[in-house]
Amino acid sequence: MSAPEVGVRATAGAGAGFPPIDAHRPPEAGTVSVPDAAGAAEGIPSRRLDTADKSARPGCAPFEGVTLDRRSEEELKALVAAGVGELGSIVGSTPTAGEADAEAVIGWVARNFDLSQVAVACSMADAVLPALVAAQLPGVDVLFLETGYHFAQTHDTRREVAENLRVNIVDVLPEQTVAEQDAAFGENLFGRDPARCCALRKMDPLKKALSGYEVWFTGVRREEAPTRTNTPLVSWDHAHRLVKVNPLAAWTLDQLVDYADEHLIPVNPLMSQGYPSIGCAPCTKPVAPGEDPRSGRWAGLTKTECGIHT
Ligand code: SF4
Repeated sequence: MSAPEVGVRATAGAGAGFPPIDAHRPPEAGTVSVPDAAGAAEGIPSRRLDTADKSARPGCAPFEGVTLDRRSEEELKALVAAGVGELGSIVGSTPTAGEADAEAVIGWVARNFDLSQVAVACSMADAVLPALVAAQLPGVDVLFLETGYHFAQTHDTRREVAENLRVNIVDVLPEQTVAEQDAAFGENLFGRDPARCCALRKMDPLKKALSGYEVWFTGVRREEAPTRTNTPLVSWDHAHRLVKVNPLAAWTLDQLVDYADEHLIPVNPLMSQGYPSIGCAPCTKPVAPGEDPRSGRWAGLTKTECGIHT
C-alpha cells in the first residue's frame, strides 16, 4: 500500500511531518475545552455544520430534502451489490476469499462517487482513515461530531488534521449547546441517560448530516468489539440511507498505530496513554493492557455503542 500524501500541507512549526506518536505533549486528563474552528489547509477551509441550520451545506439541498445530485436509493444499492462482488466484501459472518485492501476499497469509492457526495467520519482518535481517503480523494469532507464534551487532546488532534491533511473538516453540531441541554434535561444527562445524550449529541446530528451524501467512510474495525465482528467492507446503511464503507474493517489496533507512526499521521496522544478507544471525556476511561479496547467507553454501564454503528 502506498503512503498517503500527508504532512505536505504542514503549517509553520509542523515541519515536514509529525513527530512520533509518543512525542505528543502529555494530556490534561478530563479537560474539556471549546474547539478552535479556525483550522484550514491551503484553500480547503474547515467549517461548522450546525444541524439546526438546514442550509448550512453549500451546494446541497436542505437536510430534510433529497439533494438534486444524489442518486436514487435503488441506484446506490445496485452500486453496493457491485462493490461487494468487486471487493470480495464479507457477506454475513463469512469473509470472502481475496478481500480487497483499504486502498482498493477507497479506490472503488473514488471511481464510483463524486467527491461532493463522499463523507469520512472521524472521532479524532487517529487520522489514518482521513489520510488514506484524502490520498485518493483530496479535499474530502471529514465529519467530526462536535458533542461539546471532547477531551482537549481530541480538539488538538482535530486541529492537526485540519492543518496538515488535504481534507475539509466539517464540525457537526447538535441542535442544543451543552448549556441548553442542561437547561432542558438537567445537568450531566450523560450520567443519567447516556442513550438519550448520545441520540441528541451524536446520532441525530449525524443522521441529518449524512442525508446530504451518497456514501460515508467509517473506521470501524472487526476486532474492536463482538458487535463489530461481521463488519463488511461495503454495505447499504439502512439506518442512514446511504452507502457505508469500512476500509479498515480487517485492521488490528497494532496495524493502525504502526501505520500512523510510519507515515507520520496525526494520532490523539491519549491513544498511547491507555485510551485505545476515545469518545466524550465524561464517558471514556483508560483501560489496562490486554483489556477489551472499548471497555473504557461508558465503563460500568451496559451501554457499549453510541448507536451509530448498530
Ligand atoms: S458519549 Fe457520553 S457525553 Fe458523549 S454524547 Fe454520548 S452520553 Fe453524551
